[in-house]
Amino acid sequence: MIPDSHAHLDMIEGDTAEVVDRARSVGVSPIITVGITIESSIEAVRHSSTCEGVFAAVGIHPNDTAATTPEEFERLEEIARSSDRVVAIGETGLDYYCDRTPADRQKWAFAQHAQLAKKLGKALIVHDREAHADVLDLLAESGPTDTPVILHCFSGDESVLSECLRRGYYISWAGPLTFKKNDYARRLAAMVPLERLLVETDSPFLSPEPYRGKPNLPERVRLVAETLAGVCALPLEEMEYILTENAGTAFGIDLTEG
Ligand SMILES: [Zn+2]
Ligand SMILES: [Zn+2]
Repeated sequence: MIPDSHAHLDMIEGDTAEVVDRARSVGVSPIITVGITIESSIEAVRHSSTCEGVFAAVGIHPNDTAATTPEEFERLEEIARSSDRVVAIGETGLDYYCDRTPADRQKWAFAQHAQLAKKLGKALIVHDREAHADVLDLLAESGPTDTPVILHCFSGDESVLSECLRRGYYISWAGPLTFKKNDYARRLAAMVPLERLLVETDSPFLSPEPYRGKPNLPERVRLVAETLAGVCALPLEEMEYILTENAGTAFGIDLTEG
């Protein structure tokens, strides 16, 4: 089995149970479905309770933090405490590419998520788009030290990667790892210790080759895992085993229950 460490099941068109079943039938499980607003975090928890092999992360995406209130973080904590299928806080982080939310708002919300992850002892899922230095600064100041930090869809350069690895963060690779011209990302992926690697789809976004530009699905995490196995010069079965172990450790999931 190959875990999809980051998907947005509520944003994928069609019947969610069918999407999850089809993924399982091609060996993709578990799926971590990730909230980006209060409503989608509630949906994530709902999907984690109705679909086998689905776990939830709850959070407010940096692009959606413009009007977020302290009360919403109280609500988020309630949602996080409402089910033991909630295995992470996020996604949170900083997005300076899509600049509709002022950086100060994003940073405030990011720090709130980090506090919540520490308080509840859960992993923190971090989104970093064109904000590497500030993401590293904020994590150094406010990030959890006793619970895992996951850099989702890693897009930093070699120095960002070295700092993340020095701090023990998990590095999650998505569809862009498979893009023909992305030798740089594959070179970075080869530098990550095996026990720090994760794969994801971020579906419905970031479809890997040969589906680039089309809506993505959790089942396609297999293509990312195959590319990563090639990068690490490992047989796919061994890569699958490593990725499953890592997802289990990063999210505190007992993967023997399926
Ligand atoms: Zn993201
Ligand atoms: Zn995402």
